[in-house]
Amino acid sequence: MSRYKDEQCRRCRREGQKLFLKGERCYTDKCSISRRNYAPGQHGQKRAKLSEYGSQLREKQKTKAYYGVGEKQFRKYFEMASNKKGVTGENLLQLLESRLDNVIYRLGYGTSRAQARQFVNHGQFEVNGKKVDIPSYLVKAGDIITIKENKKDNATIKINAEESSKRPVPAWLERDNKNLSGKVIRLASREDIDIPIEEHLIVELYSK
Ligand code: SF4
Repeated sequence: MSRYKDEQCRRCRREGQKLFLKGERCYTDKCSISRRNYAPGQHGQKRAKLSEYGSQLREKQKTKAYYGVGEKQFRKYFEMASNKKGVTGENLLQLLESRLDNVIYRLGYGTSRAQARQFVNHGQFEVNGKKVDIPSYLVKAGDIITIKENKKDNATIKINAEESSKRPVPAWLERDNKNLSGKVIRLASREDIDIPIEEHLIVELYSK
């Protein structure tokens, strides 16, 4: 079991960057990337130069891990992104950012996307006054996200809200910590997405 205990941190180390998979720990000096920024395993300290295909594949895997999305769903987002007007890679990131679990994480009510996903699965949040328990639900501009009235005493969410005031909320969202709610002012644009992803590599991979 202990072998798998740090599996999430191993994923970050494999990608050579923080994927923020473990909540508050990711923001402290206990983060494994801060302490051991090399790939896990016997030969981890010698990072091999990746082939073109290898780089494209890693970028896709990293993005999937970052947002906690499986292959099938990720592919679906790619197809949706390709069918939308605009730049496919940017559309892809916008779709991923629009997931309800990501929005709750970005608003600071979950310390990680995984925790936010659990809250959504347990029906803790509403969108425009209606319970939504689907983490992949895609928010729209103008949507109001609130914690359900009878869940407002959830100690974990309250603590997260207090702690999250230290973390900035992206410009496309508005947080109301007092009422444990948030508003989608507009959909995220590329400039709003602060993660080091080279989305063009994913587009190249799927376009082969
Ligand atoms: Fe672990 Fe979080 Fe650091 Fe990744 S960012 S290595 S999940 S503590």
